[in-house]
Amino acid sequence: MRLSKLLFISLAVILPLVFYAPVTAQDGGQDQPYYIVQEGDSLWGIAARFEVTLEDLQQANNISDPGQLVIGARLIIPGLNGVNGRLGTITVTYGETLRGLSRHYSLSELTLAQLNRFISPAELYVGVTLIVPAIENQNSVSSGRANLTSGQSLLELAVLRGEDAWSLAVTNNLPDTWAGLPGNMFLVAGDSQVETPAGLPEAITKVEVDPLRMIQGGTTVVKIVAPPGITLSGSLADRTLNFFPQDYGYVALQGIHAMTPPGFYPLTLAGELSGGQRFAISQDVLIQDANFPYDPSLQVDPVTVDPAVTEPEKELWESLGVPVTPEKMWDGQFASPVPPEFTECWPSLFGNRRSYNGSAYDYFHSGLDFCGQIGTELYASAPGKVVYTGSLTVRGGVVVIDHGWGVYTAYDHLSKSLVQPGDMVQPGQLIGLGGDTGRTTGPHLHWEVWVGGVQVNPQDWLARAYP
Ligand SMILES: [Zn+2]
Repeated sequence: MRLSKLLFISLAVILPLVFYAPVTAQDGGQDQPYYIVQEGDSLWGIAARFEVTLEDLQQANNISDPGQLVIGARLIIPGLNGVNGRLGTITVTYGETLRGLSRHYSLSELTLAQLNRFISPAELYVGVTLIVPAIENQNSVSSGRANLTSGQSLLELAVLRGEDAWSLAVTNNLPDTWAGLPGNMFLVAGDSQVETPAGLPEAITKVEVDPLRMIQGGTTVVKIVAPPGITLSGSLADRTLNFFPQDYGYVALQGIHAMTPPGFYPLTLAGELSGGQRFAISQDVLIQDANFPYDPSLQVDPVTVDPAVTEPEKELWESLGVPVTPEKMWDGQFASPVPPEFTECWPSLFGNRRSYNGSAYDYFHSGLDFCGQIGTELYASAPGKVVYTGSLTVRGGVVVIDHGWGVYTAYDHLSKSLVQPGDMVQPGQLIGLGGDTGRTTGPHLHWEVWVGGVQVNPQDWLARAYP
């Protein structure tokens, strides 16, 4: 599925395929399921969406040249049983159930399952793309336009609109879901979403999960649109979610551990509505492999990999990120912690699998490394409160800053710390000097971002605003 999507993205980029031409529907049988070609579609993209081969699609529609695709043409989709008429695709959002979708699309649960080659309803995980009959009166899949606002990613736009970010990227001829600049106008799908997912209690109108498909080392945002006065708890992949009230309802941020085995994990929500009615829901989400590279085995001072030293230090380190301050102190993207000449100089990225002195690859790189020298100025990335400074065997001289909501940044291998626990800091404020203390192979800054007790990919926090 993922491979075919990647293939379809690459092909869509290499070959912009849609030619503007008078709308001439191909002659297709009225009783066979069909799809109407939209602006931005490619034959490869359509084949991937409906999980049919390009050859079968060409054959069913007598297309000799896949480049000759006409907007508005009617394409028969072969190999689908139990459904006829116009087809579209939707991305399943949290709380949608097979029963609810069956009602919405007037299609039996069995047909819906067969159409999407389901074996069990459990496969209706958050973020899966489903083939569904198009509901008439929505005469175009790409029927709207939307603007990216400052700090908003295409992925976020897709999530907010309940759309598949990959389809959105393809529709807009973008190389991937991260492309797209603020202010850009995008073609988006019409309002094809199910209004309120059937699996949610009535008072909760929407649960937005961003990204819909999670990735190792990623940061997940869970937004609950609900009136005030409900109590709410939840967990994601066995981590407790911390919810904070917002004007639209509640929000939680949670890191996905870089070593989490890829697969399905439950996102559960439970609580009590303002009327005293209790609820508990659970649906699987997909955590994907980030394909972190394997670094060559590193040679370091043996004392820095001795469990008698590393375990107590790890325990202390992890305990620092546990307290959840209810006040959110930051706003917008995080700033680079180093002077401008080093902001994009990264000797090592987050997540790389590591082995020390010939050990197994049981370690991963828990931060982003920045170039620098002994004495390079280091700055706070966001407003916050210093909660720890000290000198550790593995991490060397360190500063840890609490930004609220369970979000922390940590700065390692410092030659000198210039702040004290309890100090309030602002972004850009000098907090220490670079060094090569602790387990290093040379001077650099090792910079970590923690979300809900989990070290996440810091590049995400430099690239976009959370939540
Ligand atoms: Zn590092």
